[in-house]
Amino acid sequence: MRQLEINPCLPHSRTADNPWPQFPRIFKTDYGQEEAIHKFKQDPREFCITTKEFLGEDGKVSGLRLCQNEWKQINGRMVPADIPGTEHIVPAQLVLLAMGFVGSEERLFEEFKLAKAPNGSIAADDSSYATSVPGVFAAGDARRGQSLVVWAIAEGRGAAHAVDKFLRK
Ligand SMILES: Cc1cc2nc3c(=O)[nH]c(=O)nc-3n(C[C@H](O)[C@H](O)[C@H](O)COP(=O)(O)OP(=O)(O)OC[C@H]3O[C@@H](n4cnc5c(N)ncnc54)[C@H](O)[C@@H]3O)c2cc1C
Repeated sequence: MRQLEINPCLPHSRTADNPWPQFPRIFKTDYGQEEAIHKFKQDPREFCITTKEFLGEDGKVSGLRLCQNEWKQINGRMVPADIPGTEHIVPAQLVLLAMGFVGSEERLFEEFKLAKAPNGSIAADDSSYATSVPGVFAAGDARRGQSLVVWAIAEGRGAAHAVDKFLRK
């Protein structure tokens, strides 16, 4: 069993930029991971791994093509850059996806020429949802960064209202 993590391993204690009472961004071992360590005699987690491709035939997965990554700041945003020469294939019979949102696709910024917010999301006004490009609006995770369904619903409604207002002008 493997748990492939795209991010680096967190530090074992708080860093200077993560003081109490902030939520501690430190390395933790959940009960499921403890169970895996107990059964397989090793930690299932591998860090800084990018999955490049699922391999298989007839709709059945047989392996993953992986690559070691290195987080780098590119165009003002931290991205996992592949480390050349680290590609390898691991066998797999079952793959479970458990992924979070790490930001809007870079293509959107390039093709729409949208301004970026400091957190890497699309810069758009809090009430009008207007981006730096007239007639282009952004809402939800793409605008706020990773968030909650309640915010996605509220921002979706707000953005629809803002688009309506824009079109009626
Ligand atoms: C693993 C996980 C667990 C979560 N658990 C919770 C939870 O328990 N409670 C909670 O409140 N929130 C949870 N969230 C957060 C919640 O899912 C998001 O905040 C919410 O879905 C954001 O909604 P959104 O409409 O902004 O974006 P999304 O739901 O990401 O919708 C964006 C849509 O745009 C589509 N899209 C992308 N690019 C293009 C394109 N070029 N052309 C056309 N379509 C495109 C995508 O396919 C997607 O359907 C979780 C998120 C993750 C990843």
